[in-house]
Amino acid sequence: MRRNPGEVNVLVTRKFPERGMELLKDQGFGVSVWPGEEPMTDKEFLKEAKLSTALFCTLSEKVDRSFLEECSHIDIISQFGVGYDNIDVEAAGELGIPVCNTPDVLSDATADVAFALMINVSRKMFWLHKSIARGEWKYFRPGYGLGIELRGKTLGIFGLGRIGTEMAKRCKGAFGMEVIYHNRNRKAEAEKELGARYVSFEELLLHSDILSVHANLTNETEGIFDMNAFRKMKSSAIFINTARGLMHDENDLATALQKGIIWGAGLDVTNPEPMESDNPLLEMENVAVLPHIGSATTETRNRMSELAASAIVSYYRGERIDNIVNPQALDIKKRE
Ligand code: NAP
Repeated sequence: MRRNPGEVNVLVTRKFPERGMELLKDQGFGVSVWPGEEPMTDKEFLKEAKLSTALFCTLSEKVDRSFLEECSHIDIISQFGVGYDNIDVEAAGELGIPVCNTPDVLSDATADVAFALMINVSRKMFWLHKSIARGEWKYFRPGYGLGIELRGKTLGIFGLGRIGTEMAKRCKGAFGMEVIYHNRNRKAEAEKELGARYVSFEELLLHSDILSVHANLTNETEGIFDMNAFRKMKSSAIFINTARGLMHDENDLATALQKGIIWGAGLDVTNPEPMESDNPLLEMENVAVLPHIGSATTETRNRMSELAASAIVSYYRGERIDNIVNPQALDIKKRE
């Protein structure tokens, strides 16, 4: 038997947009919002989770097997975000704890950031913006700050899923780019809609003018963009990562840029996060870095908050949940 809303205490690990909190409170759920701006320590998180029945959390909370075994009383975990690499989903499934995320609602906002980074890097905009503050804008210099054009170039997508598809649509529509992609499985629909061509990982590296990363972070993808990979890319290529920083080796990336092995890079995610303020990438001409703000629009964050809260409401009502990443968890009878 699932608990009534009045018996549920949802631990909300940050001050997420109010929409989701209102939805939970309107349905009679108890809601405890962690008041701090900074993430909880692991110890604080464990202590609070032990007093809770459901979690509304995000990437900075480490929900590993040992946490889950200590908190097997938790009914449901709803993640504010589409990526859930901070959660041991397999362990949660074994313990009968469904894990939900917020797909689709952030695809446009995140693809916009990948697209914006690509344009900014190709025209050195972040660096030129800062050059004015450095006092370097004195007169017209025909050879100064030259970028590269994007029209007709080849876009390579690593991970043509929801966000990758939106990035491909933007690049094809705006610049008539040819789209190639590498996934574990072919996407017939995207191939038809975008005229996208499936290639091996090796071919993706060799042929992309812009290589944009949109895959999920897994054991298979962690560290996949290292010096070996950069060496196979064109010396004129731009590397964009808006997925997860752990997929690229940042020292190798800096070296590849310094040595002209690749031309430029745009990052919304770094390795590690946060990036140190003295990171050499921040001073490079052909580099643009953002502090992991892919989904950061008011509209998107409101939708994420609503979707994460709706999953909790649906779970306790016994309704179907579409955004569940380990549906097998629902078949496991939980020990109350
Ligand atoms: P998605 O729809 O699941 O797309 C991910 C794609 O990656 C899938 O098409 C998948 O295809 C492919 N993939 C997975 N493992 C792969 C591998 N080993 N090799 C090649 N391709 C692989 O997810 P999404 O909604 O587009 O989100 C993608 C990621 O973006 C999230 O996981 C998250 O980490 C990141 N993200 C970042 C921000 C930000 O703020 N910067 C915001 C939102 C999301 P196959 O299964 O066929 O391989």
